[in-house]
Amino acid sequence: MNQRIQLASLDDQRNAEARETVRQRISWPANLTPANVTYHSRGHALLLGSERDTRQAARILQGRGLASLTLLFTAPNAADVDQEVTDSDLLAATEILMTQALTRGQAEKLHISGHLGMFKAMLDGDEPLDLARALIQREAFDLILDLNTTPCLPVELPPPGYVVMQWQNVEQRSDTLDDFVGLVGEFDKPRYFQVNSDLCAHSTSGNIGCTRCLDVCPADAISSIKGRIESHIEIDPFLCQGVGSCTSACPTGAIEFRLPETRRQQDTLSAWLSAYREAGGQAPVLRFITHDSQDAERAAGVVPAGHVIDAPLEELGAAGHDQWLTALASGAAEVRIQLHPNMPARLSAFFDRPGCSSACIAERLGP
Ligand code: SF4
Repeated sequence: MNQRIQLASLDDQRNAEARETVRQRISWPANLTPANVTYHSRGHALLLGSERDTRQAARILQGRGLASLTLLFTAPNAADVDQEVTDSDLLAATEILMTQALTRGQAEKLHISGHLGMFKAMLDGDEPLDLARALIQREAFDLILDLNTTPCLPVELPPPGYVVMQWQNVEQRSDTLDDFVGLVGEFDKPRYFQVNSDLCAHSTSGNIGCTRCLDVCPADAISSIKGRIESHIEIDPFLCQGVGSCTSACPTGAIEFRLPETRRQQDTLSAWLSAYREAGGQAPVLRFITHDSQDAERAAGVVPAGHVIDAPLEELGAAGHDQWLTALASGAAEVRIQLHPNMPARLSAFFDRPGCSSACIAERLGP
């Protein structure tokens, strides 16, 4: 039975000792999922933006290990700059690079897709033009630096290898360019999710039903794939960055986060709450919190109340309804989700929805 917490009646010292007993006896399941998505980047970079900005960025990036630099002028220069770049030093420093200017109309038809090691840049139209083939005679660009005020790829969470920066932001410039030149080589990441099609309610008898995971994914990594009769959802493992909003949003448990797996999380939560009570703890509050938020709290000297037990996650979306309800069913007086300022907007919006907050109490971490 879950009870309303009367803070005045809690013995904080006793609860903190019970929580420490839990920590020592049962550890949170480790991520054992092998890395099995690999990006191969040879360093063929595409720079998007005004001529002025892309040339200035290119001047800094030259000689830093990138295989090629291609400048695509997709926007006019800033109002306070001549439409024609007349800085002879800048032109001389970048004259050997491949450049291409787009008209405003062409820029509107520029379509970017892909991920680190495999970015396609297409000019849509009756006869689509593949810019990687046309400009550098390759299948794709490996990485993209987008210096436009409005990025050419309109996605909340851009794919790995797509770096957005404002040239005018001088403080950000050096770190961002350092990170950009580091995107050459092989990079592994886990395949965060698995989908159980038998549980998915996306399509029945040819009619589209649930689309919740499609609606909340900030990386646009989930697609509805049309079959002969039914459609099914697919998660692109190269675009997925493990935010986990889909697994939180899924009403049927069809999407399972594997870092760690749902079943192992549930077993651990039950064992924790049982051990906490055995050790004399009162009114346990189960709090889902990211490692980064935990580190920030520790750095700020914040110590949670003794009855707050933290489940540390790589991403908040790694735990969904299954885990929240398991905690409540196992005797947690409350489930809390510690939101943080850097969450994708669509994930924040999801946690703010009434259907979500009825199953948990969401707390914001600062402004
Ligand atoms: S949220 Fe779950 S049930 Fe709905 S479409 Fe996605 S996987 Fe299927």
